[in-house]
Amino acid sequence: MDVTYDVIVIGAGPVGENIADRVVQGGLSAAIVERELVGGECSYWACMPTKALLRSGAALRAVRKLPGAREAVTGGLDVAAVLRRRDSFASNWQDDGQVSWLESVGIPLYRGQGRISSPRVVEVTGADGATTALTARHAVVVATGSGALVPDIDGLRAAAPWTSREAVAAKEIPGRLAVIGGGVVASEMATAFSELGSSVTMLARDGVLPLAEPFVGALVTESLQDAGVSVHLGAEAGSVKRTDDGTVHISLTTGDEIEADELLVAIGRTPNTQDIGLDTIGLTPGAWLTVDDTLRVVGEDGSLVGDGWLYAAGDVNRRVLLTHQGKYQARAAGDVIVARAKGETVEDGPWGRHVATADERAVPQVIFTEPEIASVGLTAAAAEAAGLRIRVVDYDLGAVAGSALYTDGYRGEARMIVDEDRKVIVGFTLVGPDVAELLQAATIAIVGEVPLDRLWHAVPAYPTVSEVWLRLLEAYGR
Ligand SMILES: Cc1cc2nc3c(=O)[nH]c(=O)nc-3n(C[C@H](O)[C@H](O)[C@H](O)COP(=O)(O)OP(=O)(O)OC[C@H]3O[C@@H](n4cnc5c(N)ncnc54)[C@H](O)[C@@H]3O)c2cc1C
Repeated sequence: MDVTYDVIVIGAGPVGENIADRVVQGGLSAAIVERELVGGECSYWACMPTKALLRSGAALRAVRKLPGAREAVTGGLDVAAVLRRRDSFASNWQDDGQVSWLESVGIPLYRGQGRISSPRVVEVTGADGATTALTARHAVVVATGSGALVPDIDGLRAAAPWTSREAVAAKEIPGRLAVIGGGVVASEMATAFSELGSSVTMLARDGVLPLAEPFVGALVTESLQDAGVSVHLGAEAGSVKRTDDGTVHISLTTGDEIEADELLVAIGRTPNTQDIGLDTIGLTPGAWLTVDDTLRVVGEDGSLVGDGWLYAAGDVNRRVLLTHQGKYQARAAGDVIVARAKGETVEDGPWGRHVATADERAVPQVIFTEPEIASVGLTAAAAEAAGLRIRVVDYDLGAVAGSALYTDGYRGEARMIVDEDRKVIVGFTLVGPDVAELLQAATIAIVGEVPLDRLWHAVPAYPTVSEVWLRLLEAYGR
């Protein structure tokens, strides 16, 4: 069978779905190809179910800190109820809801493995082995996402470790869980499983949350340790073995050994580009895809693939591995494909409609550990590395009146990075209970390049945690 559409999207994760939707809203036709579940990693094995696993523990912690409310709590977490809630947030790993949505917006779904077989042609191989060739008039978009990276540690694969998928979908909570990694997934899962009853050991070779401001990792490490997690900073697994009784033995390069019932490997991601036909168009299978400003794929020499018919958005282009940022790219990519198809002006200057400028300057991220981390823009180290002349302003978030009211013993930190030449904020980090919802104000300040002088007129309501904005400005001085 041979079928033609204006645009073919490979991968129906959050990014692929958004691109196809945007294209159709722009008046073109689009088809989408998916080999697993429509909704992608985010819906079933990442964002939603992980946050569902973490939310009940966070709510319980919050109540336990508050006199008058804590007295009402007599028990611990109901683990079975938490897992049931997680199941419902993962839609019980059924994609009917998202398939119905595709139907409702007029996007045909082709189930199977999509492979580029020649320029503008995607061959889809279904579960029955039958193939369909889809031809794109205007563009093919790769939105195939990423998978867990399992390193070449002696014996690791044979020991059948968990990746984030198995951890997120766990039906039972292991008595002892070892975690290799210290990044976002490792820290969130250590928090969740510790709250759900596992005795957790974390092997954080490069530290805990090493890419964040240094005080972030220190506070999260301390809190994990307070919760009983054994955090081994600098520890590296040399070899792994699972014995017949199911126990996993992890030998560290120092010679120490750790035993666990399950081992979660959370050290990073690898692009889903191994089997998508990149070799047929002169690209390297298994590599991250590099894109230009308007998300068109470029080769190693920086030149466009063909006449620019191939786009890549979301995790697979490695710009930012976060759903909201991938969907932001999807809006830009979908719109620019429509603009080019209709011969309309392409707005590709900084902050233009068809580019994802915020990927470089204003990526918001929340890490749902205890304490919560909310950050956007550059860290001090990244700003300095970028050659900016900056001033770092720190404030004890617990010293804000609204924080003290919010909860007893509120502990937190706030950091504002000011570009001294432009007098605007280029980075902002908050650590503390429930800081996630404070983040959007900082994102707007950075994206809007709001001058510090004007921010004095953005008065935070009293008594709220947001008063930290005023305290940071006072600390900076007028
Ligand atoms: C444990 C964990 C927690 C996370 N939590 C958050 C969070 O809280 N917030 C956040 O913003 N981000 C979070 N992320 C990141 C987020 O999941 C990703 O950034 C997001 O899923 C990327 O979307 P995507 O559409 O690019 O790729 P994906 O979601 O990976 O979707 C790609 C789709 O393409 C399909 N596919 C791949 N190859 C083919 C092919 N050849 N043919 C057909 N189909 C194919 C796949 O089956 C998949 O459905 C988390 C990640 C992990 C691992």
